[in-house]
Amino acid sequence: MPALRAAKSCRRELHMPENSELLRVLNDEIVACRKCPRLVEYREHVALEKRLAYRDWTYWGKPVPGFGDPRAQLLIVGLAPGAHGSNRTGRMFTGDRSGVFLYQALYDAGFANQPSALNCDDGLRLKNVYIAAAARCAPPDNKPLPSELLNCRGYLEREIDILRPKAVLALGKIGWDVFLGILKHRGAIPARVGYRFAHGAEVDFPEAGLRLFGVYHPSQQNTQTGLLTPAMYAKVLRRVRRFLELEPRLNTGLPEGTECTEKRKNTLTQRRGGH
Ligand code: SF4
Repeated sequence: MPALRAAKSCRRELHMPENSELLRVLNDEIVACRKCPRLVEYREHVALEKRLAYRDWTYWGKPVPGFGDPRAQLLIVGLAPGAHGSNRTGRMFTGDRSGVFLYQALYDAGFANQPSALNCDDGLRLKNVYIAAAARCAPPDNKPLPSELLNCRGYLEREIDILRPKAVLALGKIGWDVFLGILKHRGAIPARVGYRFAHGAEVDFPEAGLRLFGVYHPSQQNTQTGLLTPAMYAKVLRRVRRFLELEPRLNTGLPEGTECTEKRKNTLTQRRGGH
């Protein structure tokens, strides 16, 4: 995976304090982005019109930057901000039903200091987790266009380069596919075909030094219909935690931070479902 390897620089072990600054610079760029005219118009329109229940709020109305622990080993890839959730509060998964479900699950699994996310000043801290998204602007009907996902992908790539995650958790098929698209773009896999998304899916990418996990997106549509339950998230997050704590970084067998000096065999293994 040439591009990922070039960006490693053994940062995890040697230069970790840089991460906060690099993420801050990146997030400033994200917040200022206007690459997608349709999404710019929509996010700003929603911010002006508002939902009645939030009429006293000054909506964020801009792209939502990444949020979490700059030393995170786990990178979560969501879909896009909710029109009246993150697009209102300015923080990932904050202020809507998806966030209620997700942060409770992260808290229960020991990845967050509190189970709720109301606004940017609510004291929420993530532990060993950083949350990003496939698209940073709220899309109409929660559906970003392929061209918009492509426009936004570079931000996720830079987060990957900065964090060097040991595991990636894709919330839903779009996040899963966008991440695979990055691997393909960087030559780590020949095609996305063959890496089928499912709740509980796991794929090892030794060349990228990480494991990809998949879960259903915590949208209201999924949680209120019973397609997705807290127990289902707890089960996957337990596996993620066990992987982070007990298993060595994929591909190297070396202490983290020294893998950049090694050439490794590009082998892929895939595990799916039901773990
Ligand atoms: S979706 Fe991403 S690329 Fe498009 S305007 Fe928003 S931040 Fe920029």
